[in-house]
Amino acid sequence: MKEYNIALAGNPNVGKSTIFNALTGLKQHTGNWTGKTVEHCTGYYNYNNNHYNITDLPGTYSISSFSREETVTRDSLVKGDYDCVVIVLDSCALKRNLKLALQVLSLYDKAVICLNLFDEAKKSGLSIKHEKLSELLGVPVVVSTATKKRGLNELKSACERVCSADYNCCTKTEIIKKYSPLEDDSKIVKQVFEECVSCSGVNNVQKQTEKLDRILTSKSTGIPIMLLLCAVLFWITAIGANYPSEWLSSLFEIIKDWLNNLAEIINLPSFVSGILIDGVYTTLSWVVAVMLPPMAIFFPLFSLIEDAGYLPRIAFNLDRFFAKCGAHGKQSLCMMMGIGCNACGVTGCRIIETKRERIISVLTNNFMPCNGRLPILIALLMMYFAGEAFGIAASLKVALLLVMILVLCVLISLLISKLLSLTLVKGEASGFILELPPYRKPQVLKTVGRSFLDRTVFVLGRAAIVAAPAGAVIWLCANVYVGDASLLKYCTDFLDPFGKFLGLDGVIIMAFFLGFSANETVIPIILMSYTASGIMTDYSGYDQLLSVLSQNGWTATTAVCMIIMTVMHFPCSTTCLTIKKETGSLKWTLLAMAIPTVSGIILCTVVSHIMNAFL
Ligand code: GDP
Repeated sequence: MKEYNIALAGNPNVGKSTIFNALTGLKQHTGNWTGKTVEHCTGYYNYNNNHYNITDLPGTYSISSFSREETVTRDSLVKGDYDCVVIVLDSCALKRNLKLALQVLSLYDKAVICLNLFDEAKKSGLSIKHEKLSELLGVPVVVSTATKKRGLNELKSACERVCSADYNCCTKTEIIKKYSPLEDDSKIVKQVFEECVSCSGVNNVQKQTEKLDRILTSKSTGIPIMLLLCAVLFWITAIGANYPSEWLSSLFEIIKDWLNNLAEIINLPSFVSGILIDGVYTTLSWVVAVMLPPMAIFFPLFSLIEDAGYLPRIAFNLDRFFAKCGAHGKQSLCMMMGIGCNACGVTGCRIIETKRERIISVLTNNFMPCNGRLPILIALLMMYFAGEAFGIAASLKVALLLVMILVLCVLISLLISKLLSLTLVKGEASGFILELPPYRKPQVLKTVGRSFLDRTVFVLGRAAIVAAPAGAVIWLCANVYVGDASLLKYCTDFLDPFGKFLGLDGVIIMAFFLGFSANETVIPIILMSYTASGIMTDYSGYDQLLSVLSQNGWTATTAVCMIIMTVMHFPCSTTCLTIKKETGSLKWTLLAMAIPTVSGIILCTVVSHIMNAFL
């Protein structure tokens, strides 16, 4: 068995990750927008008894580019020793894509060209003579429709031929000599394009995209439609999450009873069963019951919108606001990634070319509620602002309130961006080109299925790694007595005056500190702390949760301040480490922690004092 190294290169959004996933069986993130892959990702496949290591490089328009994710690609191609580079091209945008292809061919004569998105090219009435293209460029050319796994065997076979030197590729100099006396790429591109591509009929895909864009990116309708879509997303999440949440809670309660019985039968010392059942198990089950259902509904829906190609339209709609605040329009794409996970949002800031604007984007990303915080917001709104019964009307109210919170988050990000660009990172917004890809029919089952599974695995993983030990620690703190009070009580009593000043209490403040490892644990830690003092031990759904909180002095003011603090406090440990890695600076990391925390403290203090004065 021989081992070969292959790289996948190409413009952004041409289907590289889809091809990579189809070849390797891995689950690299795919989505219909430019800039989602910022690091290279490696995997392998075996073919005809040979082993192929394959690297998916971030998309780039040119190897002389200067944005950070594009530098990753250039360096990898220049320094990497690949046996074959697969240059993936968008069949519908061949003229633009060929430019990069020629640049890569100037570095690597051992290459295969993969004309992906061939189905869309056909729909657009394009006909591409791929054999002619292969003859002109001197490398094998295969056509593929990666989403349907078409053409991948041909691709593997072409790579095999190139890697095993069974195909004699031409060099760029030979191509230039052969077809044009001029040494300029764009002359060659035009010539190759004219010889290989013809268009018959009307380009329906482009027409439809233009029609939709007139509505979705128009100054008058773009933003209202965006808000409406957000509301629908949140509404489906709120209405859908409530029932599974209750079912899961009831199920976990039944299991807890069994565990308690088992502990009794095997005479487990009460200290051990306390840590394991009341500490670890209870916290784990709360994380899963409260956090999992909203995530498992919201994120697959969000992925569908991403796959359809709507995210860059949001960036386009918001661009003018960011420019006014001295920030980069692509910041909104990083913010959308931040809704999933702030660490991903921070890494995604690499798509921003200038350091100044990248820093602003990194420092403000945490204002977007990540998937550990969104369910906290949903739970709080459900309990305190949705009314008595958690039905359709209540979930509608929750959805509208969530949209309002999200708009506020964006406004605060803009305000802080403006302040930063006037003070610490002074400067004007730079111009940029944002590619608006065609709208694509999302791969519903695949996208929903994968996103759902990924979220489930993510939450279960976090529950096991972070929530379980946190549960044990909290239980210990609540049950280890020094004098006549538990350690937990000492801590929460100490923090209580500060908490009360902010409209919260000591338990909530401590939960935010302990939740530094993962925001998913904040609500379980609060519950654990309250119930550890013996007020109530069972929890089955929002109404039970509400009664635990109310018995511990929560009012509407507490809920509002908790919402503010949830959105505005230091990022979780993973995000902080990512910020340090991305900026290489402790100063920016500390600032990224301080900015949301100080803003949250100020806003909570003002809001709680106003609410207390009037309510
Ligand atoms: P990358 O940025 O080059 O890695 O592109 P992705 O693999 O993330 O794909 C971009 C978008 O194109 C996604 O929405 C994919 O589902 C879609 N896509 C990829 N390949 C094809 C294809 O052959 N046909 C169609 N219709 N869509 C595709």
